[in-house]
Amino acid sequence: MSTMGVTDPRERLRAAGLRVTRPRLAVLDLLAAHPHADTDALATQAREVLGAVSTQAVYDVLRALTDAGLVRRFEPAGSPARYELRVGDNHHHVVCRSCGAIADVDCAVGQQPCLDASQAHGFAIEEAEVTYWGLCPTCSASTGNTL
Ligand SMILES: [Zn+2]
Ligand SMILES: [Zn+2]
Repeated sequence: MSTMGVTDPRERLRAAGLRVTRPRLAVLDLLAAHPHADTDALATQAREVLGAVSTQAVYDVLRALTDAGLVRRFEPAGSPARYELRVGDNHHHVVCRSCGAIADVDCAVGQQPCLDASQAHGFAIEEAEVTYWGLCPTCSASTGNTL
């Protein structure tokens, strides 16, 4: 599901002023199939598609895509950085405390910031980034869970 008008990854790279390269296309592809993947998972999958590619190269690709606004990076507490293609919509995440599963949660009122701060301290607040924590359906089904 794309929130952007342009879905062809080549077009998206060009529109963002980035050169079209196989690693960049592969990472965009992988993120479309696996939103919220971390660098290690993406590097492993990229090797299956591209052959030899270093984790550092994948990291560099992610950084270029993030800087260009094509990819969003977020980092739940206690987790490595995660990446996704869903950018610019101020959505939030719910994270499972037990298995680390992550799902998207739409912005509460559809407009940034969707949470009014009780104190702004004079800041012009533009965004609220919320992480909801709990148990995913699989983990809550197996409660009484032994860790
Ligand atoms: Zn879980
Ligand atoms: Zn997300």
